[in-house]
Amino acid sequence: MGLFEHVEKDISFIGKKYMGLKDKEISYLLTPKNIVRFEANGFEGYRVQFNNDLGPFKGGIRFHQEVDESEVKSLAFWMVIKCALNNVPFGGGKGGVNVNPKNFSEKEYEELSRAVVRALKNDIGVDKDIPAPDVYTNSQVMAWMRDEYEKIFGKQEPGVVTGKPIELGGSKGRSESTSQGGIYVLKEVLKREGIKDPRIGIEGFGNAGMNAAKILRNQRYKVVCVSDSTGAVYNKRGLDISKLIKYKQAKGKFENYEEDTVIKKEDLIEQDLDVLIPAAMAESINKDNAHKVKAKIILELANGPLTKEADDILKDKALIIPDILANSGGVIVSYFEWIQNKTGEYWTEEEVQNKLKEKILGTLKELYNEQEKDVSMRITAYKKGIRKVLKAAKLRGAL
Ligand code: GLU
Repeated sequence: MGLFEHVEKDISFIGKKYMGLKDKEISYLLTPKNIVRFEANGFEGYRVQFNNDLGPFKGGIRFHQEVDESEVKSLAFWMVIKCALNNVPFGGGKGGVNVNPKNFSEKEYEELSRAVVRALKNDIGVDKDIPAPDVYTNSQVMAWMRDEYEKIFGKQEPGVVTGKPIELGGSKGRSESTSQGGIYVLKEVLKREGIKDPRIGIEGFGNAGMNAAKILRNQRYKVVCVSDSTGAVYNKRGLDISKLIKYKQAKGKFENYEEDTVIKKEDLIEQDLDVLIPAAMAESINKDNAHKVKAKIILELANGPLTKEADDILKDKALIIPDILANSGGVIVSYFEWIQNKTGEYWTEEEVQNKLKEKILGTLKELYNEQEKDVSMRITAYKKGIRKVLKAAKLRGAL
């Protein structure tokens, strides 16, 4: 079953059971407005423009060997709800190119990034559809994309992509914003739950996982286990994150790390953790391994890391902070970047942090206020996001 079929099932269930939605509302919600299939340097790609009732389509572009249309559609749908939930005036979209860029030279990376923009030149735009970084795409990729777009159209257009380097119109705080936003939420949840000095494990050491480890360590939290695609490193007294980052940057993988115990990457989730942060790919926690999780709090920094079965197994054992809230710091600061590009006024790091914190904790507070007994934070968040999209669609006369 493709990932999007799972999304359809979940949303129909939530829509019917918790919201009393009509079939036509559910079908409107689950129908993407536009799917662009393209080829870039011989690789297959997709841009799914899911819904733009609340604003221009918005969402990252990933380069990954498992990308397919169903995955991109799911990720695009989640962007719709993520933006709506957080009162970010964007719709949702997502792009993906089916490619393994791990051994790419810089030149190959650049050529692919530019080719993607040439393929999508008439579909993206500052008030139309605004790409951003995602898995294996970063600020350098955004720099090439902006540049290619401007070469084609012969004018400056900084806001056509977000997540750019600061020197090219990026926002302060954007590169760590996904992790930083999640940590603001996590700290508030730990406070409310009365959990002190938690042992934290992070699955995945890409942009989100690595920055989360760094920020948590800087704030004296105990990160006891982190993993990448080759192995997991464990130290019950807490890991030296700066050493690990240096090692990872030099060697590319944890497999042969010698300073602490290396265990199988799959074994991270069964460690004695208070907080588990999945920050890798979708569906990494599923019916086969969910019962091994001991953590009391799960912060979903990745998109869709728990399958429905895993969510069912874990929802009474752990407080799950859903991805559409937990990782929304990325698109929130993308929104700030887009505003800064439009106005030409640039904010300090402190301003960005204050605004991010206010926005994401504002959403969390609303969810706590609205959460009904025996209804999870995920369902409450979906209800809120969905309601907002449907309201906009009705006001526009689309429904
Ligand atoms: N790719 C990120 C996400 O999944 C950020 C999207 C954006 O900033 O537009 O939320």
